[in-house]
Amino acid sequence: QLIYLDGDFVKKEDAKVSVYDHGFLYGDGVFEGIRSYNGNIFRLEEHLVRLYESAKSILLEIPYTIEEMTEVVKETIKVNSLQSAYIRLIVSRGVGNLGIDPRSCKQASVIVIAEPLALFPAELYETGIEIVSASSRRNRSDVLSPKTKTLNYLNNILVKIEANLAGVSEALMMNGEGYVAEGSSDNIFIIKDNKLITPPGYIGALEGITRNAILEVAANKGYEAIEGVFTRHDVYVADEVFLTGTAVEVIAVVKVDGRVIGDGTPGKVTNDILEGFRAIVEQDGVK
Ligand code: PLP
Repeated sequence: QLIYLDGDFVKKEDAKVSVYDHGFLYGDGVFEGIRSYNGNIFRLEEHLVRLYESAKSILLEIPYTIEEMTEVVKETIKVNSLQSAYIRLIVSRGVGNLGIDPRSCKQASVIVIAEPLALFPAELYETGIEIVSASSRRNRSDVLSPKTKTLNYLNNILVKIEANLAGVSEALMMNGEGYVAEGSSDNIFIIKDNKLITPPGYIGALEGITRNAILEVAANKGYEAIEGVFTRHDVYVADEVFLTGTAVEVIAVVKVDGRVIGDGTPGKVTNDILEGFRAIVEQDGVK
């Protein structure tokens, strides 16, 4: 496996960064998780736009243009002879001194890792998953809102730990007012009377690229699909609930905080949406 590291492809064992890298010292950097399906990179442009916007927000200059970065991502897949892959793109502030001041970092560091796809167990898509709500609240302060996909993921990690402690697959984050925001690394949709609702970004949700694709899939299939604000109560009494994300695609949630959703199996709208999503990933990518 070859990793792209600041202009070179290096073996996985040799892909190392300095302990003085501010990405390591302070979580100072941005990232993206992207997926390629049969050689098509799904919505690469959207992912790169989000990466560059996250970087702009934290005043981090990415040393490549979007066009150059597109080539780097494609090349990383090519040199690893991958067709279906999970791609992690990281830009850190780079090597500096021990002080927090980013001016000591002369050059941002760009890393691209492409790995064979580790698919979720197929069985989970048939049974659906159980989730709980986490006590950690979603930080939605203005600049460091979830829209800025930075290397500071502790909020999300604490939520994942709560899921682990509860023995379930994922946990839900509420924002400070108690409105449902998202999962630790995925977006949530609830369905009531065939209408799909997902929280708007300002509530404290990342505007997931899968989420946006699902809003399109749903509309194309004739469902009403909107952004809306809701509480845990609305999740408990929904007809169906599912999560979306680059890695997970669309996965049904059948139990939330002990409340069974619908009849406790993935619902027909969720299955219909998943089928629609799988159809577009085959056509939508960048070669
Ligand atoms: N929410 C958070 C906090 C995430 O980290 C992710 C994954 O990147 C998502 C949602 C899903 O976003 P996407 O569909 O762009 O992968």
